[in-house]
Amino acid sequence: MAENRPVCVLCNRTVINRRRFEITHNLFEANAIIAQYIIDAIAPQHFEYNGLEYVCRPCWQRAQRAVHPNPNNVPHECTLQIEEYSRVANNAASCMFAGCRSITRHRIPENIRVSLLVDSNVFIPQEARVCDTHLRNNDWDEIIDSPNLRHDFNSAHFLEIMSLLKAAVSRSRILDFENIESMDNEEIHIRLGFNREQFSEILIQTPSLAGSNSKTTLAIYLTKLRSGESNERLATLFQMSRRTLERHLKRARDCLFAEFVPRHLGFDHIDRRMVAERNLTYQTLYTEILTQN
Ligand SMILES: [Zn+2]
Ligand SMILES: [Zn+2]
Repeated sequence: MAENRPVCVLCNRTVINRRRFEITHNLFEANAIIAQYIIDAIAPQHFEYNGLEYVCRPCWQRAQRAVHPNPNNVPHECTLQIEEYSRVANNAASCMFAGCRSITRHRIPENIRVSLLVDSNVFIPQEARVCDTHLRNNDWDEIIDSPNLRHDFNSAHFLEIMSLLKAAVSRSRILDFENIESMDNEEIHIRLGFNREQFSEILIQTPSLAGSNSKTTLAIYLTKLRSGESNERLATLFQMSRRTLERHLKRARDCLFAEFVPRHLGFDHIDRRMVAERNLTYQTLYTEILTQN
């Protein structure tokens, strides 16, 4: 990036007689969002942080306006020094492992960020990156002893930590019907209106539903029938997009209607009432499926 004539990395105009910012790790660390904007703007080129790269003041201000369109919303900065917790630099420009010069950069997997925070009190900001080699090594403990850990935290870090933990907590609360064997039978019944055995029975009766996530698909459908909740709310409950949820619903409805219903509803010379008497539990399901279709 560096050139003999000092120019702005964004507009390429000389910065000799202009107000300018020298691009350093510290500048980018303190202004992570603007830094990311500038890094994206010059991609695929990288910064060298060698003291010879600049952003002119007008370009910096434009970047600032682009990332903070409403200046009233720019959080008031204050920093807390917390010795019990540490963090790596909020720097997307290089691998977070100390002294690593590799130019490949990946986001740090969220489960790694959560476990470093929970187990080792080390926070990995969202902008931090890891290189191919360090990502593959999968030896994150090295970070804990890293000489470049810091203890200063600002409001942005606080918000990120909270959202990282909130996401982890809500993931742990997610209803995992793929592992229905380990779920509480009472809860299964409350959620689905069927117990575990009945649930398995419906699955067996609907072989076309087999495949990946078949239990989730069926559980979503049964939850919908039982609760009548909106698709938006169900999508939140099952932690998926509304579109994905609706695909599950459609698949379950199609499979059940094609297989489970005719098998039990007299298309095969079985009397509807007889089936209902034989297995009262499924009566609701038959009715519900039929009204839905
Ligand atoms: Zn410029
Ligand atoms: Zn590295």
